[in-house]
Amino acid sequence: MDDLQNIRSSVIKLCERFPNEYWRELDRNSGYPDEFVQVLTDQGFLSVMIPEEYGGAGMGVEVAGVILEEISRSGGHPGAFHAQMYTMGTLLRHGSQEQKKQYLPEIAKGNLRLQAFGVTEPAAGSDTTSIRTFARREGDDYIVNGQKVWISRAEHSDLLLLLARTRAQSEVKSRTDGLSVFLVDLRQVKDNGLTIKPIETMMNHHTTELFFDDMKIPASSLVGEEHNGFRHILDGMNAERILIAFECIGDCRFFVETSSNYASNREVFGRPIGKNQGVQFPIARAYANMRAAELMTHKAAELFDNGEACGAEANMAKLLASEASWQAGDVCVQTHGGYGFAREYDIERKLRETRLYQVAPISTNLILSYISEHVLGMPRSY
Ligand SMILES: Cc1cc2nc3c(=O)[nH]c(=O)nc-3n(C[C@H](O)[C@H](O)[C@H](O)COP(=O)(O)OP(=O)(O)OC[C@H]3O[C@@H](n4cnc5c(N)ncnc54)[C@H](O)[C@@H]3O)c2cc1C
Repeated sequence: MDDLQNIRSSVIKLCERFPNEYWRELDRNSGYPDEFVQVLTDQGFLSVMIPEEYGGAGMGVEVAGVILEEISRSGGHPGAFHAQMYTMGTLLRHGSQEQKKQYLPEIAKGNLRLQAFGVTEPAAGSDTTSIRTFARREGDDYIVNGQKVWISRAEHSDLLLLLARTRAQSEVKSRTDGLSVFLVDLRQVKDNGLTIKPIETMMNHHTTELFFDDMKIPASSLVGEEHNGFRHILDGMNAERILIAFECIGDCRFFVETSSNYASNREVFGRPIGKNQGVQFPIARAYANMRAAELMTHKAAELFDNGEACGAEANMAKLLASEASWQAGDVCVQTHGGYGFAREYDIERKLRETRLYQVAPISTNLILSYISEHVLGMPRSY
């Protein structure tokens, strides 16, 4: 607990150097927060999950989550770099000793960035096990062909954790078989089998399309067992859901604190608007929703960090936190009246940023479907 509190205090201090103007300017220019990422790396925050023997802090997803939460709460946007934390789930649990020795110390030092996670395809968004990108083994290499979409930060990363098919869908017994995970060194394949095309989005997210055209990667890029990659990325995906939930809690805190401050000070009809229960109650409800989501998020993180099954909790944490942050954002706009729409208040930016999390990395419907089938035992719907 003391550790968590100390980390919170250090992140709060760091974020004070990067006020809302910094993030607003990046949002306006679609810029990447290089300076922030550098400071975060130098102070060891981006490598908290890397084991100490490889130069990190050897801490868990809960600590990583609290870092992201405080960045979000300060008004920042961790979407630009959060993948470095969640991709660790797969690499640490399934990567070989050689891979860990080769990459983790360099990532911890900040010489390499592992910021890209390549799963989604145009014809396989929610339906991950239908991906078509194919990695064909040829001697000491794999030759990759296919296409990915919505792969964020590929232009700002040295490494990509890629999910590709290694056995045709028609040849697998279970739909989760036949997929493999690769750690791709983007520096070697950019414009040499890999083309990256940026996609403009409603928030500053640096997301891209990837086109693989006979992209050659060494066989040593394989992470874990061939054909068993779907199970390997589930660790990364659970970590991702938990970390995104922490980010949403941070967004909620930004919205609730901004709302209650404004409501206490803005005077209309000669008194603070916060004296009206019609203004107070939605803010109080947003706070209660945030606290409930926070409990589930810490529960999911504890389970993950203890190596226990956490699929249900990680999904529920993401569901509850992403809905709570959107509701809190809506309340924040309403509390501010017209000013909620002005860029300089940062509310509309934070609202755009937090909206993504009801769709990515997994949409709300798919989480409800998971709970219905896997937790409540109802019939499978797809
Ligand atoms: C800005 C951004 C960044 C992203 N970054 C990454 C990244 O770095 N790496 C990566 O791999 N992916 C990334 N994604 C992709 C993201 O994970 C997908 O968008 C998400 O999984 C949904 O897939 P889809 O967009 O194809 O929607 P679809 O699967 O087409 O779904 C569309 C809608 O239909 C609903 N739906 C579909 N099937 C069902 C069903 N059976 N029952 C009920 N509802 C259903 C969904 O809930 C959704 O609301 C990103 C997306 C965005 C927008």
